[in-house]
Parts: sequence; C-alpha cells; structure tokens
Amino acid sequence: MIGCHLSAAAGYLHMAEEAKAIDAGTFAFFTRNPRGGRSRKLDTEDVHRFLQAAAEQHLGTLVAHAPYTMNPCSAKEKVREFAHVAMEDDLARLEHLPGNYYNFHPGSHTGLGCEKGIELIAELLNEVIRPGQHTVILLETMAGKGTEIGGSFEELAEIIRRVQQQDKIGVCLDTCHVSDAGYDIVHDLDGVLETFDRVIGLQYLKALHLNDSKNPPGARKDRHEKIGEGTLGLSTFRHIVHHPALRALPMILETPNDLAGYAKEIALLRQMAAETQEIGPAEKSD
Ligand code: FE
Ligand code: FE
Ligand code: ZN
Repeated sequence: MIGCHLSAAAGYLHMAEEAKAIDAGTFAFFTRNPRGGRSRKLDTEDVHRFLQAAAEQHLGTLVAHAPYTMNPCSAKEKVREFAHVAMEDDLARLEHLPGNYYNFHPGSHTGLGCEKGIELIAELLNEVIRPGQHTVILLETMAGKGTEIGGSFEELAEIIRRVQQQDKIGVCLDTCHVSDAGYDIVHDLDGVLETFDRVIGLQYLKALHLNDSKNPPGARKDRHEKIGEGTLGLSTFRHIVHHPALRALPMILETPNDLAGYAKEIALLRQMAAETQEIGPAEKSD
C-alpha cells in the first residue's frame, strides 16, 4: 500500500483516478482547506462512484489528513473550539468512507506546557470519538519544533493512555519528523522501532508518512525532501519497505513533488520492495 498525498479539489473519484494513473495503492488528502478550515459540502454521488472505483482497483486504507490549523491544545480558546468543530465534522463525513484513517498533528501547546497540552488533546479525542465510528484516528509523530507535542514517543503514549476508546486511536509515523526529532532511523531502524514498541506499543502503529529530510537527525526543523535526496537516503527507505513490522502498513509520500515525481517515487519504492533482501549466507540455501 504505497501512495502519496493528492489534492481533494476535484473530488474523491478524481483522486482514485489519479491514484490509478500513478500506480498508487492508497493515498492521503486534506479533509478541508489545510490553511483555512472550510470544508466543501459532501457530494454523495461522487463518494458513491469513488467507493466503486476503490473496490475495483483494490485501493488500500486511506489516510485522510486534518488541516494544519487544527490545534486542540492552543492557549486560545477560539482555536481549540475550531479543532473540536472541525474534527467532529471531519469524522462525521468520513463515515461515508468507512474503514479509513484520520491523521492529525497533536498540536502545539503555545505556552500552556506539555502536560496541559496532552490533557487538552486527550480531552478532545474523548469528546469526539463515537463508540460505533468506522474511522481510526492517528496521532502523527512530530519533529518537535517550537511547542509542538508529539516529538517524543512518550508524549504520544501519554495521549493514547488517556483515550477511552482504545480501538479508535493509533499512530502515523512520519520518517522525516522522527529523524528530525532525534530518532536515528538511518543507522538503527530496529532500535527505534523497539523503543516505539516499548513506549507506545507497535500495535498502535497504523500508517507511515515516507519523506526524506533536508536536515540532520535531531534538527527539529520539519523540511521534507524527495526520497533518496535527503539525510535519510535510499537505504533507509529500502529497510522500511522490507521491514516485517512496517511493510504491510499504508505508506504515504509527502515529498516536494508533482504527480509525475510521485509516480517515479512509487515505482522506485515498489522496485525496492520487490528486490530480494540481502540475507546472510546461512539463510541463502533455501
Ligand atoms: Fe502531517
Ligand atoms: Fe507527515
Ligand atoms: Zn512534515
């Protein structure tokens, strides 16, 4: 399930067609204007045609992305209110596309402090999650810039621990962000995943954002780079597409690319995934 971020401007069916054209097995899209907040009226006919196309082309689990302006732990009440209204509305709309993921940036505490921020994020989740909903909400791992929450696995674990509906919450690991946050996935992917498992639990890891990074590990910058052209490098992505704990997850590219660029990266990742991995001589006999 490899795909990329697509524009939702021309509707759902159009995204399925674009995904098909670039050989994507899944995709991500903004549920509303990423910098503003308005959402378009849901076109049920478009959704119906999308669901048919998705079944025909065997699209995997989608990873919808909440707007950047959503900040459930802002010091400003108005901003927190918007986060509440927008998330509730997004989740209601996603019920028309059941069984997918809804990814959001946990937020920036803007001076309230980490503890209070975590409390507010968990509070929002417990308010908007409905027991019967068909969407799992994903907290994105963040680079930890400014007062961002989610730059450490401990912070994400603390949010998850407070969520009442445990089957409706998970994590989306962004490769650029975790590296920028100081987790060395270049030299020790296994070690980072062991830490993830110990602190959060690998059962919560539901999706990946595949991005190379313009900055060295620990830079806390969050500037995405094309696959293989940044500080993570091709070998890191080769490990990822082969890793038993990762290879079955939806993988979404958010690299600085147009559609043709995404098509190339998808082909590259598929090619790497198809290659036989270098294995030790003892295992080579079979
Ligand atoms: Fe994101
Ligand atoms: Fe991301
Ligand atoms: Zn980012």
